[in-house]
Amino acid sequence: MQKRYLFAPGPTQVPPEVLLAMASPIIHHRAPDFVELFEQVRADLKWLFQTTNDVLVLASSGTGGMEGSVANFLSPGDKAIVVNMGKFGERWGKICKSFGVIVDEIVVEWGHAVDPQLIAEALQKNPDTKAVFIQASETSTGVANDTHAIADIVRPLSDTILVVDAITALGVFDIRTDEWGVDVVVTGSQKALMLPPGLAFVSVSEKAWKLAESAKNSYFYYNFKKEAEGQRKQQTAFTPAVSMIVGLKEALRMLKEEGLQNIFARHARLANAMREGVAAAGLSIFPKESPSNALTAIQAPEGIDGQKIYARLREPYAITAAGGQDHLKGKIFRISHMGYVDTFDVIMALSAVEMVLKDLGHPVPLGVGVGKAEELLRKPI
Ligand SMILES: *Cc1c(COP(=O)(O)O)cnc(C)c1O
Repeated sequence: MQKRYLFAPGPTQVPPEVLLAMASPIIHHRAPDFVELFEQVRADLKWLFQTTNDVLVLASSGTGGMEGSVANFLSPGDKAIVVNMGKFGERWGKICKSFGVIVDEIVVEWGHAVDPQLIAEALQKNPDTKAVFIQASETSTGVANDTHAIADIVRPLSDTILVVDAITALGVFDIRTDEWGVDVVVTGSQKALMLPPGLAFVSVSEKAWKLAESAKNSYFYYNFKKEAEGQRKQQTAFTPAVSMIVGLKEALRMLKEEGLQNIFARHARLANAMREGVAAAGLSIFPKESPSNALTAIQAPEGIDGQKIYARLREPYAITAAGGQDHLKGKIFRISHMGYVDTFDVIMALSAVEMVLKDLGHPVPLGVGVGKAEELLRKPI
């Protein structure tokens, strides 16, 4: 017998309550029980997104939500600013280009956050820019952006929308969709929402709907207008992922019971303990600034291949984390602490890192990183 542990930055662990809910017999999506279910999850999603806007539910991975957020709001030949500070920012650029959008890419060195001033300057240079695309949390590098500051720059512009990939941000740290004026917020089910992969969610502001009116692009499945019209009547355009939505209801119930501020505080506390534990073990985190509370990207020590760390965590220790991507392959490994996680997930992950590094011949003192995290995570009597 080998017990498995999942510490990857997606998919993440799913609570037993959600798994059990998802095992219920399938209900029909045009029957009254679905209407009741969908009404509930739509209301709860608005709470999670901190918005009164529509939050569309799509049967796809997160990237489907990203693709729809390009296709529905922009036309071929439109200009967009894309922040590329890692793998997922690069993806915004690729999607835009595949829909004929002219991309002004702000390339940020991996490990850094974007300086919001660069976005302001790019907008001044191209005032006819239709959309700005960013990640709230860039999962490939473990860096968070200052979404609030960026929203302050875009919000006053009446013909430019801000589209935020919040796939490892929403339900981890504060994203105030309406208060900050974020036009389009995208997330997926398999990260902080504590669900299996398979759903994407997109909130759409009035400004974005206005842009959608004039946009001409080709799409069929990701038709946001059609989805919104149906979903306001608790009907999806196509067969929804019914079991996922049943699980979503339970996940949102759990999140609501905890409360937004407590969710953010839990993630901040765990992320801090992870980073402090990593430092105490003599290791360095990869982000040069504003590390995301969703995951920690850790630098592989000199002379040790990060992929070997990843591989040894998996075998023999049965822990699934993540390696680095592209030029970071072998240089970093990543451990998630988002979603269904608490104190002992961080302790276990740190313990495993210490053991694996020791196995690989790195002089890490066993228990020091763990001890630091224990100190930080102990609860007062
Ligand atoms: C996981 C993730 C995505 C979406 O990936 P899918 O595999 O399509 O679900 C997009 N952006 C970020 C920042 C992510 O972490």
